[in-house]
Amino acid sequence: MTAPFPAGQPAAAAIRAMIDRVLARVNALSLGGPGWTRPSYSDLESQAHALIEAEALALGMEVRRDAAGNLFARLPGRDSSLTPLYCGSHLDTVTEGGAFDGQAGVAAALALAAALRATGRTPAADFIVTVTRAEESVWFPVSYIGSRAALGRLAPEDMQAKRVDTGRTLADHMLDQGFDPQAVLTATPPAPARFLEFHIEQGPVLDSAGEPFALVSAIRGGLRYRAARIAGAWAHSGGAPRDGRADAVVAFADLVMAMDQVWKGFLTDGADLTVTFGRVDAATPAHAMAKVAGTLDFCLDLRSDDPATLDAADRAFRAEIARIEAARPGISFDLGAQSRSAPARLSDSMCAWVDAGAAQIGATPRTMLSGGGHDAAAFAAAGWDSVMVFLRNWNGSHCPEEGMDPADLALAVEAVFAALVQEAA
Ligand SMILES: [Zn+2]
Repeated sequence: MTAPFPAGQPAAAAIRAMIDRVLARVNALSLGGPGWTRPSYSDLESQAHALIEAEALALGMEVRRDAAGNLFARLPGRDSSLTPLYCGSHLDTVTEGGAFDGQAGVAAALALAAALRATGRTPAADFIVTVTRAEESVWFPVSYIGSRAALGRLAPEDMQAKRVDTGRTLADHMLDQGFDPQAVLTATPPAPARFLEFHIEQGPVLDSAGEPFALVSAIRGGLRYRAARIAGAWAHSGGAPRDGRADAVVAFADLVMAMDQVWKGFLTDGADLTVTFGRVDAATPAHAMAKVAGTLDFCLDLRSDDPATLDAADRAFRAEIARIEAARPGISFDLGAQSRSAPARLSDSMCAWVDAGAAQIGATPRTMLSGGGHDAAAFAAAGWDSVMVFLRNWNGSHCPEEGMDPADLALAVEAVFAALVQEAA
């Protein structure tokens, strides 16, 4: 494939150089291995944002932060009346996460700015590198904190969510990093515009198919029980007869097998659904080899592209629980709080816009669903024309082994650069 840049090699070279530099510099910031850990609203996340700010300033971009600490670096377009293009991702990670989830999208956004600068081009509309805060909801039980803060969609109660490791509130952590939770709740969000996020796929589809990148048409939403508990009765493993036991582990096994069948049924009916028990805990100090388990903690993560499917799966889940409680005297479930993120339809016109750029470099990306939640979903929910470009990755995601080829990312960035050039022409 040859890139159609009139200036020739400089755009591609600038893209690749910026991708490599941003990935290397951001990934030097971590709490330690294995993998990479940059908690939401931590000093490390702030340092990563500062690093991107320095790169943006070196490109002559105008940098500002909002009250939540989201970073916006603007390259002015030729016509300020045209709808701006915001492009970016996040820099926080899960605990012992990978080198690309979030980082790749920020590197790609800066690489586009670098290519525009290197070729002396002015985009038609304002191009705004966007680095969000706190996208990974493992730290606070709230989805898309930074982007929703930027969009004026965080509620006062979200500010009271506690970070899982420190037990301190989101408001406290924002204040620690020099931001203003009160102002977040009253700020006027920017007018709906266009948002583009490059992100690794976090699944095997593109790698299996041998395709470097794809367009994303929709993002699955989620329905979660983060802290559910089964209560039974502790008993002696040798002394307690089978009848009369209230074994929390056996009740959980019933639930897991029942939900696996529920899931199969939804798929057979043509619905989009995933069912995951992501954490199971029957290993507290009270649990032991010679005891019938009297308690078990778990979480459930349901995902679908359709809110009605999530509701139906939730009803099926509760029906199975009622059945198990009836069948097993002494067993009771406490599901705790439910949290949700809405499925997001992404923008057909933005998919077509990126696709036209891809055609310019001879690429024919497929269109697919995103299983993971992303900032692009928050922008879509706020009425923005939002789109994602997925990058082939391997060894899974949210793990130290997470893989991606920077050459794939550079190719996808070249496709979008071609779309920007076309728009400016
Ligand atoms: Zn991510």
